[in-house]
Amino acid sequence: MNLQKNQIIELVITSMTAEGSGVGKTDEGIAVFVPQSAVGDRLSVKILKTKKTYAFGKIESIITPSKDRKNPDCPYFNKCGGCVYRHITYDAEKKIKEQKVKDAVTRIGGIEESKIKTLISSDKFNRYRNKAQFPVGTDSDGKIMLGFYAFHSHRIIDCDDCMLQPEIFKTVMNITRDFMTETNQKPYDEATGKGKLRHLYIRYGEKTGELMVCYIVNGNGLKQEDLLVERLKNALPDLKGVVINLNREKTNVILGSKNRVAFGQGFIYDELCGLKFKISPLSFYQVNRETAEILYNKAKEYANLTGDEVLFDLYCGTGTIGLSMAKDCKQLIGVEIIADAIEDAKENARINNIDNARFICGNAFDTAIMLEKENIKPDVVVVDPPRKGLEKDLIDTIVRMNPDRIVYVSCDPATLARDLKIFAEQKYETQEITPVDMFPGTSHVESVALMLRI
Ligand code: SAH
Repeated sequence: MNLQKNQIIELVITSMTAEGSGVGKTDEGIAVFVPQSAVGDRLSVKILKTKKTYAFGKIESIITPSKDRKNPDCPYFNKCGGCVYRHITYDAEKKIKEQKVKDAVTRIGGIEESKIKTLISSDKFNRYRNKAQFPVGTDSDGKIMLGFYAFHSHRIIDCDDCMLQPEIFKTVMNITRDFMTETNQKPYDEATGKGKLRHLYIRYGEKTGELMVCYIVNGNGLKQEDLLVERLKNALPDLKGVVINLNREKTNVILGSKNRVAFGQGFIYDELCGLKFKISPLSFYQVNRETAEILYNKAKEYANLTGDEVLFDLYCGTGTIGLSMAKDCKQLIGVEIIADAIEDAKENARINNIDNARFICGNAFDTAIMLEKENIKPDVVVVDPPRKGLEKDLIDTIVRMNPDRIVYVSCDPATLARDLKIFAEQKYETQEITPVDMFPGTSHVESVALMLRI
């Protein structure tokens, strides 16, 4: 029997998708995806959408709960698209994430399961993030909404706290919401392209306590900016800067390319692996500082430096991974496409008295070709690409450069697995992969892999 929309069925959840949705099969073998369910749940499910071999549903009621369940501790969990695992124990979440890496790496990468180590968990389940970007809009009555997008949508969920963010962010959210209401300013409207404030963006140096508040504006600035700055300064003694980021484009991309400092300085410092790092608004910085240290230490262990090596840090951001290893190698070369991040990286080498580092702004592939032409040969290459992974041409270039070791830091197990397979076909064999949970509560999981030339 085919499933119909709005039909109510009984379903037992038997597995999870990579995105964190539970899956159960009907007697006819149709897979039904149910968000916020848990393996072992016996559910009454309402079918929302049907396809030939699968369907989407939502929980009508829980007939028998999974033993992994706990009460979600966030009032927005049902609406917000951020967390997917606040209804199960952290132990259960860790198992799911380890399995996600195992599934990808064995199925797509063809690598033996024994090479995947136990997932390293995050000490903090809540309030581990040091960065937030909140969209701003209005509800149908014109009331200011500031919070998060609903799952897979651009509908704003107004909220006054997020369990993943530091408490101090609440103060900034409230000041911003009140300021917009009192000064009667219209937020940006995606549909019409009118209105000023698009996003509130906050960055926090967890170790230093330094705070930067950034407003992403469709235009040059906000009305009565001085009043806003005054209120922020009064409420937040560690506020280092207020930055206006200009973004007039009709785009989903949050940040524009230009910044104007409205107060203080246009950056903060934080500390990681015993080093100090300058971080500007457009530069990437790991959002979970404590777990990033664990990840970087694992990468360092895999790099196994003795002091004689030329080390490449491709996709280096502000230079964090490479600089944390610079004292153990002969020369460090970092490559990154965002100019502000490279400026930060150079400054970060300087303030940490590291003088064997060279940072180049450019696309990883083009720059690797340039370095190849300069006849610079890396002994160890670290890569840390965005979710889409490495371009095949870059993999081929790295292989031609013939390093002894390659350390691959990845935020997407599927593209990691794809790339490890390509490396394996060119004599770089994966030795070990360690999953690291940088993002508790969400479906995301980081991994670091070591490849050796065979
Ligand atoms: N290793 C750094 C940054 C990792 S995030 C850290 O741990 O902090 C990935 C970085 O790759 C981002 O800084 C992004 O700007 C950069 N990037 C994205 N595409 C790139 C490309 N084609 N070439 C070089 N860098 C790129």
